[in-house]
Amino acid sequence: MRKILVSSCLFGGRIVRYDGADAPERDARFLRWKAEGRLVSVCPETFGGLPTPRSPAERIGERVITREGCDVTEAYARGANEALRLARLHDVAFAVMKTDSPSCGSRQIYDGSFENAKIPGQGLAAQYLRESGFVVFGEDELDSAEALLAEVERL
Ligand code: SF4
Repeated sequence: MRKILVSSCLFGGRIVRYDGADAPERDARFLRWKAEGRLVSVCPETFGGLPTPRSPAERIGERVITREGCDVTEAYARGANEALRLARLHDVAFAVMKTDSPSCGSRQIYDGSFENAKIPGQGLAAQYLRESGFVVFGEDELDSAEALLAEVERL
């Protein structure tokens, strides 16, 4: 049975978001994968050493900066590397990561202005995973994730 890497905040009951909450995914397919024991959860930001709650941060080019102007790139990179390590360790079929996050976002991210504006882009962990050949979906792309899982398990 192939495993799937997921953002910890989507897993449910793991209080890891910057605002001290989770963001449990309730789609029936995700819940089935969870019940099957397929999900390997990672929160790149807390695994990188950041506390919960924490200051919101956004990518500005290659750096990640908090709203107060603190450069937290090193912690984000550490967490992104940990996500990659776990993906390799568990030979995951793909990843399902939280949309819009500066770590987990897979198609768009906030633009660095802290004005709630988004731009095309990806979070650092999603970037590291893709650069190493892993497919990364957002939690709003479970149709595609389900199709890929079926294909991978047919092989
Ligand atoms: Fe969720 Fe990823 Fe943010 Fe952690 S870093 S709270 S897993 S979106």
